[in-house]
Amino acid sequence: MLNLDYVKLGFKDVLIVPRPSNIKSRSEVSVLRKFTFDNGFVWEGVPIVASNMTTVGTFEMAEALAKFKMLTCIHKHYPIFAWNQWINSINSNIDIINHVAVTSGINENDLDRLDTIMAIADFPFICLDVANGYMTRFIDIIKKIREKYSRKIIIAGNVVEFQGAYKLSEAGVDIIKIGIGSGSVCTTRKMTGIGYPQISAIDECGKVTLTGNRYIMSDGGCVVPGDISKAYVAGADFVMLGGMLAAHDECNTTEFYGMSSEKAIQDFSEKSDYRVPEGKLVNLSARGPVSKTLNDILGGIRSTGSYIGCDTIERYSDASLIHVAEQTNDVYGS
Ligand code: 5GP
Repeated sequence: MLNLDYVKLGFKDVLIVPRPSNIKSRSEVSVLRKFTFDNGFVWEGVPIVASNMTTVGTFEMAEALAKFKMLTCIHKHYPIFAWNQWINSINSNIDIINHVAVTSGINENDLDRLDTIMAIADFPFICLDVANGYMTRFIDIIKKIREKYSRKIIIAGNVVEFQGAYKLSEAGVDIIKIGIGSGSVCTTRKMTGIGYPQISAIDECGKVTLTGNRYIMSDGGCVVPGDISKAYVAGADFVMLGGMLAAHDECNTTEFYGMSSEKAIQDFSEKSDYRVPEGKLVNLSARGPVSKTLNDILGGIRSTGSYIGCDTIERYSDASLIHVAEQTNDVYGS
């Protein structure tokens, strides 16, 4: 069956249209946003999120991002003793804890581990991470976790179109994670043919946010600060970053690899004849402290606001994206 109603668009296919603006300086643009969830919990912060990849979602990244009021989905491969040590080392600092999502898989061991970590401190967010958010078993498990952790905010995915997003919303997910195949070290589209261009995925999944206190998190595909702004204009409430945060001091490595790459499978999964890698490993140059990159990102996002007359990122979705045939002038390199 062909579904070719209209072409779906990714970051490289669109640009944001400027609008009349009373903003005199980008410092007038606030990147903070307040979110109210179904259970009454209110979280205020900058809706940029470090991915739960082992090379990005580290404790050190969480400490650095918390200073910018950004979230970190801490990866699921830290042993319990490391969590205890870390919480002691930060003296249970609530400003950091409030910017942490605990990531979990969905098998029995993962869920036991989640219970143990959630007892260590009052982490507000749980991130349930599977490559394919369309699995029926995933929905069943989300419902159980929703019941058990009624006070917590659940981030879960990934899906890429409305039906998938709606099912997660119905199961009680607060923040629906969007993106399949868009990641910088992902090879899912090559290996399986599955995927959905990210801007269209955000646009279509965004319709679930009309049904109440539901939010969407664009995950994967951002390579420059302008892509993050494009995601907000398309309707993303949060934007998750992998590659843009990789290879900084806080990652403790300059290797950056997909969580379904051969390296990750070797390190973290049981061997199986049926499983083939859907991710790759790249070696990057060291990029120093992440704070410099975060300031560049925030500078770009604030500047977007000054071009579209929005003094808060919550209003960026009032602006429009156009479908373009060219992006940048790369005559002297990109
Ligand atoms: P990036 O910001 O680097 O473009 O994308 C990061 C996202 O890629 C992650 O948050 C995750 O959703 C996705 N990802 C990470 N590792 C893999 C992988 O091995 N395979 C696939 N298909 N996606 C991955």
